[in-house]
Amino acid sequence: MKSEQFVGAVKKCQICSNKNLELVLPLGHQLPVSSYLTKKQLQEPEITYPLNLCRCPKCGLLQLDYILDPDIAFPFIYPYRSGLTNMLVKNFRSLADLLEKKYNLTPKDLVIDIGSNDGTLLQGFKDKGMRVLGIEPTDAADVANKNSIPTVQEFINKKTVAKITKKYGKAQIITATNVFAHIPNMPELINNIKNLLAKDGVFVSESQYLLAIVEKLEFDTVYHDHLRYYSLKPLQYLFNSFGCTLVDAERISAAGGSIRVFAMKGKRPQSDRVKKLIREEEKSGIYDKKFWNQFRKQVMTAKNDLLAIILQCKKEGARLVGLTSSARSNTLLGFTGINNQFLNYIGEKKGSPKIGLFTPGTHIPVVDEQKIIKYQPEYVLVSSWHIGEELMKVMRKMGYKGKFIIPLPKPRIIK
Ligand SMILES: [Zn+2]
Repeated sequence: MKSEQFVGAVKKCQICSNKNLELVLPLGHQLPVSSYLTKKQLQEPEITYPLNLCRCPKCGLLQLDYILDPDIAFPFIYPYRSGLTNMLVKNFRSLADLLEKKYNLTPKDLVIDIGSNDGTLLQGFKDKGMRVLGIEPTDAADVANKNSIPTVQEFINKKTVAKITKKYGKAQIITATNVFAHIPNMPELINNIKNLLAKDGVFVSESQYLLAIVEKLEFDTVYHDHLRYYSLKPLQYLFNSFGCTLVDAERISAAGGSIRVFAMKGKRPQSDRVKKLIREEEKSGIYDKKFWNQFRKQVMTAKNDLLAIILQCKKEGARLVGLTSSARSNTLLGFTGINNQFLNYIGEKKGSPKIGLFTPGTHIPVVDEQKIIKYQPEYVLVSSWHIGEELMKVMRKMGYKGKFIIPLPKPRIIK
């Protein structure tokens, strides 16, 4: 596996190359969120990297000012399988249904998924009879291939693209769900997508939506894997500068609030809902510096309020554990400093590959969630609060009787 060369400190905007980026939210030096540790690794040093959210005043893009080497950000053994999250599976099925109808897809059409993980999204298209191909650098590709979803285990680059078009032809649909913000070299990525796409093909991406992040104070979505935090205006700028058009977009509920974006090659008409969403973005204030000063204050207040609750629980002598360990929860715990001195362990669904490992930096043991039911700790911090409603329901059903702590947007206890 070959790393991209485009790593290290970011000196200019990742979309428009403007050199004057403004610091929005400093989250300190943090560990890569996927670098879970074995018990043996706890005795070794860990390397942290800068995690600063910045904004480009020219095109409006929110982005990190440091790009982590993808080999470090996405370790070969990636502790994440799309097939394991019910919500994701549901979203993927509805995306396959939608694209089939919207673009009248037929069985001869090729659908390519970039960052296809275990092939969960492609399975939906395969079931409809279409030709599918995944591009996935981690060993999740093995799982996909075993499930008969043909998957190339590589990063997307010029060589991979040439190999694919030669063997499979061009794609009618290219999807990139929750990876479009992860790939370092933006100009190269767009060129690769253009080369893979048929003339009237459609590129569909789903990413966390900046408006949703600010509405719900989801600063925990900021981690090294996410190099950019999209709103439509900078994306429109991006596609235009590559001779493409942002033809349509819609807000969806996936991953705590996302934006689904449709782009095509050439100059084409833009849907009314794109225009309307861009107007909403401008009205919200996300393109003004003042807005982000306020955002930073809100994040710091939430951090202090959460720590006050946690410290109060500890003073009472209560036992405190976490519920589900995710990339987001690792940002939350790393930034707030809630480590293994506060949380005894974090429960994960049975079968999770993280069970038996320790969280990066905060060193909290990850265990089967049954342990929470067995020992009934007084407080459960819902560390993956973006799916908190679902998690709490399941816990109650399993027999947990204690209290929950919801960390964001307003830290609170639920009895
Ligand atoms: Zn810019």
